[in-house]
Amino acid sequence: PAVSAMEVIESQDVDYEDIGGLDSQIQELIESVELPLTKPEAFQRIGITPPKGVLLYGEPGTGKTLLAKAVAHRTEATYIRVVGSELIQKYIGDGSKLVRELFEMARKKSPSIIFIDELDAIASRRLNDTNGADREVQRTLMQLLAEMDGFDNRGDVRIIAATNRLDVLDPAILRPGRFDRIVNVPMPDEEARANIFRIHTRFMSVADDLDYRKLAKLTEKASGADLNAIAMEAGMLAVRLDKKTITMDDFLESVQKVMSKKETEKEVLP
Ligand code: ATP
Repeated sequence: PAVSAMEVIESQDVDYEDIGGLDSQIQELIESVELPLTKPEAFQRIGITPPKGVLLYGEPGTGKTLLAKAVAHRTEATYIRVVGSELIQKYIGDGSKLVRELFEMARKKSPSIIFIDELDAIASRRLNDTNGADREVQRTLMQLLAEMDGFDNRGDVRIIAATNRLDVLDPAILRPGRFDRIVNVPMPDEEARANIFRIHTRFMSVADDLDYRKLAKLTEKASGADLNAIAMEAGMLAVRLDKKTITMDDFLESVQKVMSKKETEKEVLP
């Protein structure tokens, strides 16, 4: 039953080309996750052991999940995803059991990639460990550390974790042999934003004169997820007006809408 908290996907359809910007981050993942799974002998020959765990950190919606899926796709590994906050909320008293089952499943279905989203929910520096909920989080973290220490680097299970909050993580999680490769996933710059727009409109009917540069200039504070929302919204406008293609005007209106919504959300949310 606890297994239902995991999302297990035998193969992924996201590829590196679906990711805008993030070239050096992709390179890091190729070296620390893809090659150890696809060419383990190269590491053996040279006599180095690849990192067990890679930690991706950055703002929400910047492509961390996308990166993990793309690596899983390239390696044809089983992709197993768990969300830190769900581990704690859904399985009170059972978080550590679930972590144990997670690693068991990963070994059974190897080669595999475990993706732990919202790592901070189970790996935050302890604030006060007097109440039961905190102790539960603590036990889940201890189990995760034990599982990571217990398995072999050279094996065909790799771990990728993601967080928006590097600053709150328990330093124990970052020790050598655990998450010892830390990769920042930044907000997209102008060039990356133009690329992300191109990626998300690839399968849409857009007007020939769509100005990706201008759209990138107008979306300075947007994440990849925001840009995806803008493209979708522009498409909706075109559908609503029964147009044949999505025009620059549709995009400009959509940029306005999505970016101002983002602003108001920032004002009401803490
Ligand atoms: P969170 O921290 O909220 O979990 P995340 O960093 O894992 O966010 P993703 O789930 O990878 O973000 O991104 C959400 C969606 O936004 C993706 O499915 C994709 O459509 C779009 N997206 C985000 N970043 C990029 C990018 N660099 N290139 C292309 N699309 C992107």
